[in-house]
Amino acid sequence: MNMMTKLKTEAQFVDQFGRGKRKLRISVTDRCNFKCVYCMPEHPEWMKKHDLLSFEELYQFCDFMVRRGIESIRITGGEPLMRQGVVHFVAQLQDLKKLGLKRISMTTNAHYLKQYAQALKQAGLDDLNISLDSLDTAQFKQLTQKDLAPVLEGIQAAQAVGLPIKINSVLMKGMNDDQILPLARWSVQQKISLRFIEFMPLDGDRKWSTEHVVSEQHILDTLATEFTVTSQANDSAQSSSDPARQYFIDAHPIGIISTITNSFCGSCDRVRLTAQGEFYNCLFAPKGLNLKNEIKALTASVPLRELSLHSTLSNYIWNKEHGFHAIQQRLKNEPSRKISMHMIGG
Ligand code: SAM
Ligand code: SF4
Repeated sequence: MNMMTKLKTEAQFVDQFGRGKRKLRISVTDRCNFKCVYCMPEHPEWMKKHDLLSFEELYQFCDFMVRRGIESIRITGGEPLMRQGVVHFVAQLQDLKKLGLKRISMTTNAHYLKQYAQALKQAGLDDLNISLDSLDTAQFKQLTQKDLAPVLEGIQAAQAVGLPIKINSVLMKGMNDDQILPLARWSVQQKISLRFIEFMPLDGDRKWSTEHVVSEQHILDTLATEFTVTSQANDSAQSSSDPARQYFIDAHPIGIISTITNSFCGSCDRVRLTAQGEFYNCLFAPKGLNLKNEIKALTASVPLRELSLHSTLSNYIWNKEHGFHAIQQRLKNEPSRKISMHMIGG
């Protein structure tokens, strides 16, 4: 091990279960033009624009984190393509690749993707996750309050410029669980990889209940009515920290993120930052860490700020709990926190 590698390893953030942190998700805005039933509250209270960290501040934080072992940055939201300057931010982040950053990704609802695909590719974006929960136009509108057509056009535009994409589909019982086979057929036909996601208790109006969850087993049973389903469990394609369980339907890869019925929290290497600088060591963490002032001080090159931020973060990350089920168990009778997926970024 050379000196650089040694320094980097020593500085890496690790939690109490020995899980090093390699992935950072940054929500650049909580605003969104969609109103997905499983995510957005009926009456969202948007973060004030002047409370958001600037892209310069977000960049300084990313630089700090990459020097501490972050290899992959995902830009999310709200809808990241609604924040002006996000393409330039992607381009800026390229500079961190010389410090060890390997991937810059984005998660989007794809509504504006047609107009941004080329620019994102040119800015060096490595891949995109796109949310698509139904191929039925009326159902799509019911789920999101927006039209399906621009999303399909956005997907085509991303494919045309050669951006690798994955589709994410959240399933809700009685809402879109009839889309398992249509989405699977479509992904095979389009040669796009698809991941079904179990509905998690992160909806804005906190109406989640286990009754709405479409389980991994149900998804597999449904797929098996039409495809030969095999597990990729022993395949090298299955990364140990990947939250999705990997399968093939016939020869086509498909993933299932089954946080509720079969969670993969055990090897989680992710941490998150909201647009106004709240840091979360887990999607379900009951409390975030307000880093806004520390991040602003980084940008202003205040002496010793890095040391102070490093020690605050080390401590908070170290205390990351085991995962969704451990947190649910501990907080059984306490009210859930008020942060929903549109703020923390999925
Ligand atoms: N607006 C972008 C989009 O929809 O792709 C990015 C932000 S969105 C919060 C990120 C991901 O979280 C999406 O794939 C979305 O489907 C997922 N998501 C939102 N609420 C969820 C919930 N309650 N349970 C599971 N996944 C959820
Ligand atoms: Fe918007 Fe994404 Fe939430 Fe849907 S899932 S409301 S697109 S932030």
